[in-house]
Amino acid sequence: MEKRGILLVVSGFSGAGKGTLMKELLRRYENYALSISATTRKPREGEAEGREYFFKDREAFEQMIARDELIEYACYVGNYYGTPRAYVEEQLEQGRDVVLEIEIQGARKVKERFQDTILLFVSPPSAQELRRRLTDRGTETPEVIENRLARAIEEAEGIEDYDYFVINDDLDACVEYVHQIVQCERSRTGRRAEQIQAIRQELKAFAK
Ligand code: 5GP
Repeated sequence: MEKRGILLVVSGFSGAGKGTLMKELLRRYENYALSISATTRKPREGEAEGREYFFKDREAFEQMIARDELIEYACYVGNYYGTPRAYVEEQLEQGRDVVLEIEIQGARKVKERFQDTILLFVSPPSAQELRRRLTDRGTETPEVIENRLARAIEEAEGIEDYDYFVINDDLDACVEYVHQIVQCERSRTGRRAEQIQAIRQELKAFAK
């Protein structure tokens, strides 16, 4: 395993299918760890504490901010969401590739702080499909759906800040594609400094 893992940020419109995509990526490959965020949003039906999110009240969340326990946080449609630092650091240190499924403001902050982060934006094939997925989910009120669609318009303006844009049409193909992106990133010269030094030294030793 590599010395330090890669940080992969995945964003996309609410309803783009990021959650399913990430779950499948983790199921298929062992090198990934998924960061669980803290949020002040109320749990949806079927969500469990510590599995989808750590559910906090506003006060507890603000305490996490004050203690600098979050790598980043953002307000999204009236609620706080943030990435707990400890788990991410620990997993990267162990050589795991850590996936953050966060929205665009958070993605930008993470990239500012850790410049070798991969930012990946996942989109459904069309806006119509996005609306259909949000409605079919059946867990949101029409008002929340409208808010999320409005938010999607804003988010679409920021897509160029991402390194990769991936269309989630066929889940299986999309999972493989994302995994390949991470594998390719591993070979970037910036991540291979030690090996590059080693080959240089070997070459010089030969020439002696
Ligand atoms: P949802 O309420 O649908 O679970 O999530 C709403 C949005 O918040 C999604 O775009 C999701 O990616 C984002 N989100 C989830 N966790 C975090 C986080 O820790 N930080 C930030 N900035 N966004 C998050």
